[in-house]
Amino acid sequence: MPIRIIVSVFLACAVLSAQSPPNWTTIEAETLRHFQELLKFDTSDPPGREAPAAEYLKKVLEQEGIPVELIEIEPGRPNVVARLKGSGAKRPLLLMGHTDVVNVDPKKWTHPPFSATRDSGHVYGRGTVDDKDNVAAGLMIMLLLKQQNVRLDRDVIFLAEAGEEGSTRVGIQPMADKHFAKIEAEYCLAEGGNVTRVAGRVKFASVQTLEKIPRGVELTARGPAGHGSTPLRANAVVHLASAVAKVAQWKPEVRLNETTRNYFKRLATISPPADAQRYLDVLSGDAKAVAAADEYFLDHEPRHASMLRTSVSPNIIQGGYRINVIPSEAKATLDVRMHPDDPPEKFLAEVRKVINDPALEVAWAQRDVRPGTGITRLDSEAFKAIEAAITKHYETITLPTMSTGATDMAYLRAKGMQCYGVGPAIDSEDGPKGFGSHSDQERILETELHRFVRFQYDVVLSLAGSR
Ligand SMILES: [Zn+2]
Repeated sequence: MPIRIIVSVFLACAVLSAQSPPNWTTIEAETLRHFQELLKFDTSDPPGREAPAAEYLKKVLEQEGIPVELIEIEPGRPNVVARLKGSGAKRPLLLMGHTDVVNVDPKKWTHPPFSATRDSGHVYGRGTVDDKDNVAAGLMIMLLLKQQNVRLDRDVIFLAEAGEEGSTRVGIQPMADKHFAKIEAEYCLAEGGNVTRVAGRVKFASVQTLEKIPRGVELTARGPAGHGSTPLRANAVVHLASAVAKVAQWKPEVRLNETTRNYFKRLATISPPADAQRYLDVLSGDAKAVAAADEYFLDHEPRHASMLRTSVSPNIIQGGYRINVIPSEAKATLDVRMHPDDPPEKFLAEVRKVINDPALEVAWAQRDVRPGTGITRLDSEAFKAIEAAITKHYETITLPTMSTGATDMAYLRAKGMQCYGVGPAIDSEDGPKGFGSHSDQERILETELHRFVRFQYDVVLSLAGSR
């Protein structure tokens, strides 16, 4: 077709669509098409290879007339940044998702991991719930805003980042440190939340507003080496074993903040009476009631126990090399997830006190230290818009949550951005069946992908649309 005809057809379509409300049947087909295309790129990290997915996003956005930039820190691993301009009346809104995925063992997949196979209402593939769902939703929101010619009070920025799964040096780190002006926003929506379905029914929505901060602690026991035939009380292995047992049994101080207080309070309203009582006990300030609930959590709801404190998990232990040699050194590494309100140096001093053994050296271990997390408010315009859209699309309660794990939002919160983790509805049975994020297989319900796009479109309209 001559260019002039293409342009006029394009303009005619644009004018038509600008005047008509979104046609969700067409949009669902378009969503599914882009989602499947994105899933078919093998972006396993390592090594990453996000480039084809990034090029695809760039092409689709540019075809719609949306300016796009690829920002590459390492060859073949670009980040995608697109921006729709608003009037500037409000500060921008950032939509973020990561294009890389965790590795797969193809033998474990019924449908090949990069086939994006549709089967009985699900789409199968690595990245279906982590995190090509958010990438596809972010892309669709940009396309919809443009197609619908929505007037914006603030810029809407889309960032499809590389390297979230263990190589943030090519993704969020440099984006936050060196290219922040390109993504700076008042609010950000990214992975980290979801809607929980049980037996096919929506139970609650989690919106991540805070996260714990990963650190590592290394314990090194030292003692005299010797012959195994003559046991020594100073044996480094003995001292290390005792130290590990002490920290594992230790219950660091219980802490609450705005997010966890609201979480337990709201969770109590939808829980059976005995569970609800424990969630309220945690908030009661009554030391005995808090301790009893905590004890129950440690046995039955370990994620809740972790949400209440800085947690310590001894995950690596090394020592000795021959059965008849007493080694002079033994080491253990603790996975520490700092409660955001717990001062790190004070915590380390407490670990030393708990171990109380001069044969042990206690020090921070080598680990990528994420920046401390800023405050994401629950009384913000953004949280209210998210909560309203959850009520509208899912007819359920919103639980603000503090992740025990870490996300890339930490880097943005550290810069003062208010970030909210959202996600589509997931069957709680899917994880144990082996279909969750990072599982042997991964899948999403098509209907929930589409509902997530509609939900997110409403959130964005409410936050960024001109009134
Ligand atoms: Zn992810």
